[in-house]
Amino acid sequence: MGFSEQEQQHEAGRLHEKLSKVGWTVEDCKLIAPMTLEINQLKRQQNALILAHSYQTPDIMYGVADAIGDSYGLSVEAKKSPAKKIIFCSVHFMGETAKILSPEKEVLVPAVAGCSLADSITAEDVRKLRRQHPKAGVVCYINTSAAVKAECDACCTSSNALKIIDAMPQEEIIFIPDKLMGQNLQPLTKKKLILADGRCIVHEEFTPESVKAIRAQYPGIKILAHPECSPSVVSEVDFIGSTSQILDYVHTSKDKDFMLVTECGITDRVNIEKRDKNIYGSCVLCPYMKKISLAGVLKALKDPTEHQIVKIDPSVIRKARACIENMFALEKKSQNLGLTARQIPAES
Ligand code: SF4
Repeated sequence: MGFSEQEQQHEAGRLHEKLSKVGWTVEDCKLIAPMTLEINQLKRQQNALILAHSYQTPDIMYGVADAIGDSYGLSVEAKKSPAKKIIFCSVHFMGETAKILSPEKEVLVPAVAGCSLADSITAEDVRKLRRQHPKAGVVCYINTSAAVKAECDACCTSSNALKIIDAMPQEEIIFIPDKLMGQNLQPLTKKKLILADGRCIVHEEFTPESVKAIRAQYPGIKILAHPECSPSVVSEVDFIGSTSQILDYVHTSKDKDFMLVTECGITDRVNIEKRDKNIYGSCVLCPYMKKISLAGVLKALKDPTEHQIVKIDPSVIRKARACIENMFALEKKSQNLGLTARQIPAES
């Protein structure tokens, strides 16, 4: 697909307006302009919707995506959209969640990307845990495969995990797969949590020492973290929230200086969308999320491979959907306020 010099110049200018805020040069933007032009043209021709998780690279988020957000919010976006084809720029389980909620749509992922949490547990592991703890209910974090969700009673997100656990009828809850999130939740609920051993390789990297060092260097700084971090990190920060909650906090806060204890995509989003905020300290890249490239998005639109097409057995879709729908039912039932930093005791 050929684009004129003028079209490419104009596209490079459009990209540079956003991406220059995170260090991209005009030359960098000129290099990708033909590809973003082609992707956006194919997207319109095919009536496709491109979704990008907030941990994607800026060229994907601001070059081709129609919506940027977190795992669950984007799946709801996919369901609401009239588009018949969804390109989900993210890790595989998120593409699966979109397919579970919109089985009639064609859902594609640009690369086969795992996730240390989702890959830490299988459907058979869940069945084994159920046999070991027959009285316990099973709640799975959204970072799980469709096959695992199909074996669980209810799903949860990082922002409603506490509500869901408290609203479950059982007193013992098998909470999978995130051990660190489970440890953060345990002091906040009267339920006994039985934890698996999954960890997010991004959020487990942060240490309380790194947080304390930044606070000492920048007095008055606000430090925000994701609940996939360890309890020792959580106890040192000012706010705990999902990726969307962290972004909302920064966007609405009067504070100027922040440390974001999470994946680097969130720092990119703040640097591009909120130029009046200063971000200090280092972030961590997710190697799985960063497997997605513009070339992969183009391939998914032009000539998708078998691996790019999200396929789930209909019986698994039915059971996994029941698990997600139970999350809504339990959320309504719950009177709790959910997992936010203001509710996590500093000493937890
Ligand atoms: S940041 Fe962590 S939880 Fe998210 S995809 Fe990467 S490994 Fe999985």
